[in-house]
Amino acid sequence: MISFSGVCKSYPGGFEALKNISFTIPNGEMVFITGHSGAGKSTLLKLMTAIERPTSGSVVVNGQNVGALRPGAIPFLRRNFGLIFQDHKLLFDRNVFDNVMLPLNIRGFDRREAVRRVRAALDKVGLLSKEKTHPITLSGGEQQRLCIARAIVHRPAILLADEPTANLDSAYAGDLGELFKSFNQVGVTVIIATHDENLAARLKPRTIPLQHGMLAETAP
Ligand code: ADP
Repeated sequence: MISFSGVCKSYPGGFEALKNISFTIPNGEMVFITGHSGAGKSTLLKLMTAIERPTSGSVVVNGQNVGALRPGAIPFLRRNFGLIFQDHKLLFDRNVFDNVMLPLNIRGFDRREAVRRVRAALDKVGLLSKEKTHPITLSGGEQQRLCIARAIVHRPAILLADEPTANLDSAYAGDLGELFKSFNQVGVTVIIATHDENLAARLKPRTIPLQHGMLAETAP
């Protein structure tokens, strides 16, 4: 479960990106964080994963107070999450298989188990037949699916995606929506920051609407 209670976040310089935010996301839910550019969506996701810390209030993930974690505990917190963030670029000098293998190598997985998991993740996103190709040869939609395979290969309980359909045409965005739905159907908590109304219409998730850093009464 993820729980925000009276969370405020000011960035250095004093800009208040989030003001008094409280909500709870139970395990296994699909939730969209919506709102205009600059509303605070990315900041919310960064607080969940301790990329940023709240200025006041508490952020609790699976019973852990994220804002109070010591640095050594942060990698353990992050194991709960699969992150699909725009600044997590694919490695264009490695093939599709190696891009998905990388997070398991970093975590020191047994090689045979890791290979099995990489193939299962690539199969899940429909890219198994392209495991030896390089990301540069993939379409935009395929590259985004590769990012998803890399995010889920360690089987996280929570999937966080920041504007996952930003650079995709609507057909690809629809495919991606179905993929997120399939993870949610097997119990993964799926949290997507987006202003893609088509995706919301298709998946009909609960929404947490933000407006200028505050919870909006209704979706803006
Ligand atoms: P969104 O994801 O909804 O576009 P963000 O959470 O990225 O919104 O940003 C919310 C506000 O906080 C914006 O005004 C942005 O400029 C500001 N902001 C985000 N990150 C930083 C930072 N590292 N330092 C200063 N201001 C920031």
